[in-house]
Amino acid sequence: MSNRRVLVNLRGLLTPDPARTWAVDRILDAALAMEGGRVVWMGRAVDLPSAWTDVPKVDGGGAWATPGFVDPHTHLLFGGDRSGEFNRRLQGVSYKHIASEGGGIRETVRATRSASVDELVASGESRLRAFRERGVVHLECKTGYGLELEAESRLTAAYGELKRRGWSLDVTLLPAHDLAPEFSGNAEANARAVADEWLPELVRRHPGVARFCDVFVETGVFTVEQGRHIFDAGLRLGLTPRVHADELTWTGGAELAAELGAASADHLMFCSEAGMKAMAATDVTPVLLPGTTLFLGMRDWAPARKMIGAGCRVALASDFNPGSCPCMDPLTILRLGCLQLRMTFEEAFTAMTFHAARSLRHIDLGHLHTGARAEVLLWDIEEVLELVYWVGEPFRPRFLPA
Ligand SMILES: [Zn+2]
Repeated sequence: MSNRRVLVNLRGLLTPDPARTWAVDRILDAALAMEGGRVVWMGRAVDLPSAWTDVPKVDGGGAWATPGFVDPHTHLLFGGDRSGEFNRRLQGVSYKHIASEGGGIRETVRATRSASVDELVASGESRLRAFRERGVVHLECKTGYGLELEAESRLTAAYGELKRRGWSLDVTLLPAHDLAPEFSGNAEANARAVADEWLPELVRRHPGVARFCDVFVETGVFTVEQGRHIFDAGLRLGLTPRVHADELTWTGGAELAAELGAASADHLMFCSEAGMKAMAATDVTPVLLPGTTLFLGMRDWAPARKMIGAGCRVALASDFNPGSCPCMDPLTILRLGCLQLRMTFEEAFTAMTFHAARSLRHIDLGHLHTGARAEVLLWDIEEVLELVYWVGEPFRPRFLPA
């Protein structure tokens, strides 16, 4: 009745410790006691408190238990796909040329504008299933392929419906993802439309759906000044900033995120050392997206080691989107964190669980200490390090029975 149960027969359990920044607990022959969908105790099976001995058991089957992954940066909903463009780029055609023909992000914007809410919900749900099968239990999802009020409103409505269907999501409004075709060459007027008209109207039409607001602050897109104007409007509407920052050039996006008290600054391949220090001092989470660097064939990987050295609580995310990272696989991102960003397994794992959750202001996700949501993954492997070691191996977790 209180739905108390104990997960037993675990080869091991690996979890970040939310009380200590980069600490990871690794417990062999573990057990985990749950009540009402929350963790109430975890430790070595031999130390299970006697009050739990007669409680119903769930057999872990000798698996390793970990918390579910949290993905703090996705562009989940969009129309169409860009596989044709991908192959043209492989044939040597530049993105600039493709964009000049009306392709690239413009192609996704056209397809998204013509999609109905029902179509967006259906494709969103099949993508969410793919993420979940791979172990992602909570995601941040952005609007941003509408670039005008009505299409952004349909995207927000679709996210609202996915939440009503029980998917665990945080929604971010990103109507300032790029210059809208209608505002081409006039970023200033575009930023004013987003801040003064679109954001207030999206929040009025869809109360309670979005928690965050985001702007692509980048050379040739929106300036720091225009970003500040949009974020201030978002803050007045109760939306916490997350910033697409310093992705292609240094623009001072990380510094802006620190100034605003943003939850995160994302991408950051060209982040300054001053920006890193400012993020560490103000507890802005740098969210790094190595899948994008890989898919775009860029050479500049985000400086994760320097950020960790500066005291930042780095998180990793997929940046799932049709143009620069069509990847729904957390193990690929985990492996890139280790192999390209030079993070240890424990760091990359923490970056994709607890630090990711924390960047979304959830402290009860991404770990398995007392009070956490019992979102447990069971991996049928001998040693948990195999998750990164067998590069390319498509491990799939099992979930606890409902
Ligand atoms: Zn993004």
